[in-house]
Amino acid sequence: MTRSDSMSRMIIPCTKCGREKYFEGLCYYCKINERRLEISMLSHEVVQQKIQIIINEIREGNFDQVEELLMSLISIRNINTSYIAEACLEQNIFLQSIVYKDASEKTRDTLIHKLLTTDNSLEASHLLCCLAMIGDDYVQQVFKELQANPLPWRKELYVDPSVYAHNGGWAFREDGNKEALIYEECRTFVTGERKQYPILVGEMNGGHCPSCGCDLLDILTIDGSDEKLKFLNLEGIVKVTICPNCIYYEEAIFCKYELNGESHLLNMESKEENMLTHDDVKKMTTNRLTLSHKPVSKYYGITDEINTIGGMAEWIQDFQYLNCPKCNKIMKYFAQIHWNTIDEYADGTLYFEICHECQIIAIHHQQT
Ligand SMILES: [Zn+2]
Ligand SMILES: [Zn+2]
Ligand SMILES: [Zn+2]
Repeated sequence: MTRSDSMSRMIIPCTKCGREKYFEGLCYYCKINERRLEISMLSHEVVQQKIQIIINEIREGNFDQVEELLMSLISIRNINTSYIAEACLEQNIFLQSIVYKDASEKTRDTLIHKLLTTDNSLEASHLLCCLAMIGDDYVQQVFKELQANPLPWRKELYVDPSVYAHNGGWAFREDGNKEALIYEECRTFVTGERKQYPILVGEMNGGHCPSCGCDLLDILTIDGSDEKLKFLNLEGIVKVTICPNCIYYEEAIFCKYELNGESHLLNMESKEENMLTHDDVKKMTTNRLTLSHKPVSKYYGITDEINTIGGMAEWIQDFQYLNCPKCNKIMKYFAQIHWNTIDEYADGTLYFEICHECQIIAIHHQQT
C-alpha cells in the first residue's frame, strides 16, 4: 500500500457532528442541514426571485438542474407552486407530483383532460398522483367517475384512483366524502438534550420479542397532552413499541396502545433469526433527538431525510397507507423516523400510522 492509499482511507470526523467519513469538511447530513438553514433564512423577495429562476429553467428544459432547490423551497418555505405547475405542465413533467399542490383550475383541467384521453398507463399513473395533490371537489368527482367507469389504462395499473388519492394525503370515506390521511400541522426533531418528553426516540422496553427474542424498543414515546403535540389528538402518554429486528422482515408491526403509556405488540408473522444483540438495541437509545420548538411547514419532511411528526412523509418507495388490522379502515400517517438518525449504520425509514378508534399504531419500514 502506498502512502497516498493509506492517506485516502483515513477516517476524518465531520467538523460539525463528528460523524466518521473519508473526506474533509462537513458530512453529507450536515451539508444538507446547512443548505436547509440557508433556505429558511432567505427573504421573501429572494424566494420570489428563485421561483422565477426555477420557472425559467423549467421552460428551458432544465428541470433536473432546479429540482433540488425547488423541493427544498416547497419543503421549508411551502412556496405557492401555481406558476411552477404551469411550467411543468407545458414541459410534460409529472414526476414530482407535489409541484401541482397549488395548481390553478386551468392547470387542473388540462391534467384531467390528459388523463381522460391518454392511452399510456404510466402517464395515467403520474397524472393521478398530480391530481391527488390538488384533491379539490372536482378532482374527487373525476376520481369517483373513473373508479365506476374505468378507462383502458386502468387494466395496467395495480390500484384504483381512490388509492392514488392517498398520494395527496386523503381518502374517500365510506359515505363518499373526503377524509384527511395526514395532519396539517408538523414538527421536526432537533438535536438537543435527551429529555423525558414530549417526544423521546428509542427507550429500552424491558420486554423481548415473542417472535425472535430480540430486546423490544419503545421507538417513540409521545406526551400527547403537550401543547406542541395537541394536533395529534392523543390525550396521554403513548408508547410505540417495535421489535427492531423483526421490523425489517414484517410488512408492518402493529402496536396496541393505551393512553397511560402501556403498549403491546399484536401478532407477528415472521419467524426470523434475531440479528441484534442487547448492545445493538441499547445504542438506539443514545440519540439526542428532541422536538422542535416551532412548528414547521406541512411539507417539511418531503425531502432530505428529515424526521417529522405530522405533515407529509417522504416515501422512499410508493406512498403506503395501511389498513387497521381491527376495523380495517385506512390509517392516518403521523410520523417518520430515518433509521440513520438513531443507528449510524442502518438505512431506510420507519413510517408511523394510527387508528384512533382502535388505539392501534402501525409501523412499517421502507428502503431503497
Ligand atoms: Zn456532520
Ligand atoms: Zn422480533
Ligand atoms: Zn381501527
